[in-house]
Amino acid sequence: STFNFNAGPSALPKAILEKAQNSMFNYKKSGLSVMEMSHRSPLYEEIHFGALNKVRSILSIPEEFDILLLQGGASLQFAMIPMNFLPKDKKAAYLMSGSWSEKALKEARSIGQAYELSTSKDNKYKSIPNPNVEGVEENTAYIHITSNNTIYGTQWPELPKEFGNQPVFVDASSDIFSQPIDWDHVDLVYAGAQKNAGPSGITVVIIRKELMEKANKDIPAILSYSTHAKGDSLYNTPPTAAIYMLGLMMDWLEEHGGINGIQNINEKKASLLYQMIDESNGFYKGHATKDSRSKMNVTFNLPTEELEKEFLNQAKARGFVGLNGHRSIGGCRASIYNGVPFEHVKKLVEFMEEFKSNNA
Ligand code: PLP
Repeated sequence: STFNFNAGPSALPKAILEKAQNSMFNYKKSGLSVMEMSHRSPLYEEIHFGALNKVRSILSIPEEFDILLLQGGASLQFAMIPMNFLPKDKKAAYLMSGSWSEKALKEARSIGQAYELSTSKDNKYKSIPNPNVEGVEENTAYIHITSNNTIYGTQWPELPKEFGNQPVFVDASSDIFSQPIDWDHVDLVYAGAQKNAGPSGITVVIIRKELMEKANKDIPAILSYSTHAKGDSLYNTPPTAAIYMLGLMMDWLEEHGGINGIQNINEKKASLLYQMIDESNGFYKGHATKDSRSKMNVTFNLPTEELEKEFLNQAKARGFVGLNGHRSIGGCRASIYNGVPFEHVKKLVEFMEEFKSNNA
């Protein structure tokens, strides 16, 4: 068997893949696969609006927000956000918690003025920075936060709530749909679907409607959030197959107790792994500080690089896929998104125990 711990694109629930095999290639006996339908046909509209409604329902998204299904990945959002919401006479504030925050800030600086509100870089991004609410400068257009840091394996235990009327924008690429979102304290949440919500090719953007009224109008239509909101994310041809899969993933979440149900399972998976790491007498060493640990990406090191290499080799031979750390920091990383079953985490923990007793 294969145990998929890839960081993204990553494991999808087996049940969904089976369902897709049955229904995607001859949708409702129409003789058409989902990939062959016109995106203006009633058949596809059912899939499209179905997916949008299910996303709203799973995350309990209030009516004050629009849900957009876009392309270009989270990386395009790094640029679209400042293009829409960073006027020349204002500055954007970025909370720096890893390389993705750095990329987001860099894009903002290519559009206008942006500053680091706080950073944990001095701590090699092993922890989440203090939000430094007092440091927000006058004339700040918005605050940007990366909720889960895929590479370092850190996650905000809770997003800061103290920013008052400042718009708060969240890159939730690697933890969306894993836990509830408090809509009172965020204004825009975005995420590529390829970790917790389906295949790549689609970016979910959930945006407070009133924000769009104040957005910069002086940009190409395709890069304006309003365009996509007005067009129900059908302004141009959407990634229809990926949206179909997103809908299936929402059904699967519903069947697993909705967002609270999946949060529960995710916590159990993460605790099992972290407990193993903590009780390994230092053989496995967690990369993130305990108060900042991610429930999605568990990063760890072994006593030496040689042992890490051997661990990864043996793991691979046993069917564990994707356990190597990101190329920028090395070490090991187990990504345990929604699609990774508890049993696979158990198998990994068993393997880690065994490897430890053979090599400690
Ligand atoms: N932000 C975070 C937190 C990520 O983990 C990633 C990708 O892994 C990205 C942004 C970039 O996403 P994309 O490849 O969809 O542009």
